[in-house]
Amino acid sequence: MTDTQQQARTARPARHTSVPGGSARAVPVAAGETVRIVNTLGHQVADTWAVAVAEGGAALSMSHSRLATGRISPRVGDVLVDDQRQPMLRLVADTTDGGHDTLIAACDPQRYRALGHQGHHANCFENFLSAVAEHGRAPAVVPDALNLFMAVPVAPDGTLSLQPSRAPAGSEVVFEALQDILLVVSACPQDLVPINGAAAAPRQIDLYTD
Ligand SMILES: [Zn+2]
Repeated sequence: MTDTQQQARTARPARHTSVPGGSARAVPVAAGETVRIVNTLGHQVADTWAVAVAEGGAALSMSHSRLATGRISPRVGDVLVDDQRQPMLRLVADTTDGGHDTLIAACDPQRYRALGHQGHHANCFENFLSAVAEHGRAPAVVPDALNLFMAVPVAPDGTLSLQPSRAPAGSEVVFEALQDILLVVSACPQDLVPINGAAAAPRQIDLYTD
């Protein structure tokens, strides 16, 4: 990007999208643009996906990204890749302590049934599908999510534990898109397991794109 383009971009207000707690939104992010994902009220997990705008395009892949970065959780400067191993997102800033998860599948109806919930429960799996459907997309599979702000420490013996998010109010991560993508963020509705902090009520996430 030239300096002139950069100035034009910074002179323009960021596009804001609020993601109400328990729901999801999909926003287009062009290559070279950045998106800030803000944990506005704190301790809210944000299941995050990226799919290429190109027809038949690839999706951000956690397993491919773990190889590309050599880490379980991305750090500033890391480039996350799609399922065709092409660069898709660069993590350019992170005001949290880096507690993000790439291992756990998005919550879905089966998960809530297994936890004893009776009837339908909002979930990130269906949130993803309805958010992309608003952009005319009907993917055959739901990729593994990048679970921003989700604390899943791995013990030395390999044991995983789901712990309350450590991300404070106002903390944020910033990604640069390296392809034209649809970014999908679900403010996880999980209220049966304390991953979203002591309040156990889903809270909003805010997105700013520029
Ligand atoms: Zn969820």
